[in-house]
Amino acid sequence: MPELPEVETVRRGLAPVMEGRKITRVILRRSDLRKPFPKGFQKRIEGARVKTVARRAKYLLLHLDTGDVVIWHLGMSGQVRIYAKGEAVPKPQKHDHVEFHLQHGATIRFTDPRRFGLMDLGFEDTLDQHALLKDIGPEPLSNHFSAPVLQARLSGKRIAIKQALMDARVVAGVGNIYASEALYRAAISPKRSAASIGPKRAAALVGAIVGVLSAAIRAGGSTLKDHRTTDGELGYFQHSFAVYGRPGEACPDCDCNVAKTGGIKNIVQGGRATFYCPRRQR
Ligand SMILES: [Zn+2]
Repeated sequence: MPELPEVETVRRGLAPVMEGRKITRVILRRSDLRKPFPKGFQKRIEGARVKTVARRAKYLLLHLDTGDVVIWHLGMSGQVRIYAKGEAVPKPQKHDHVEFHLQHGATIRFTDPRRFGLMDLGFEDTLDQHALLKDIGPEPLSNHFSAPVLQARLSGKRIAIKQALMDARVVAGVGNIYASEALYRAAISPKRSAASIGPKRAAALVGAIVGVLSAAIRAGGSTLKDHRTTDGELGYFQHSFAVYGRPGEACPDCDCNVAKTGGIKNIVQGGRATFYCPRRQR
């Protein structure tokens, strides 16, 4: 599933292609993804110029010069592909559901095999109040995110910190992978109660979240470059993780005796896999 860094990398791939261009044509090959497309979707978009390609949490936001905003979620397995002007666009396959044709000839294709993706429309003036966006917490890579802000959002929560971090109302866009990775960096046990996070741990956690997301965006950026020279596909990258997906291994920063400790532990919290080092994370 794309997490914030993947969506941000897609945004950075789309921005130079879409910004300043008119959307000349929208092709929908079905009437819905996770939800039906809004009524008049094509009509409201066709002929409009894309001002900016922004992002909020895991939503891409295409701000149009008409005041409309396309709110676009990539779902679990959505992929975005850019075909430059003059490049042959292959015949659509079964899961190629949406196409944006742009002035000057580029085509953006959205492929979503599991159809957990979503496209909706909002108004720029009232975007914060849109049902999909209004309850989302602070954006982790903005200056609205700080230790006091995080601590306030965790206070009184009786759930484990790992689960709290995955709640978009606490912080935007931190999913399963980066919650495990950030807790590892901050040396905090994923099982610790969210309410027990004091100022010191909150500060460590804020630094860890920003650090882990920024590193992943940098990694995505380099992958993006490679991808664009080959087939233009955006969306998935193999990052190197410290604990995620590495049960039984020694974690990078500590002197775990794996034979004795069993190394990185894999537990299930709220139905999702968590990875952590019991020796380093308290
Ligand atoms: Zn360790």
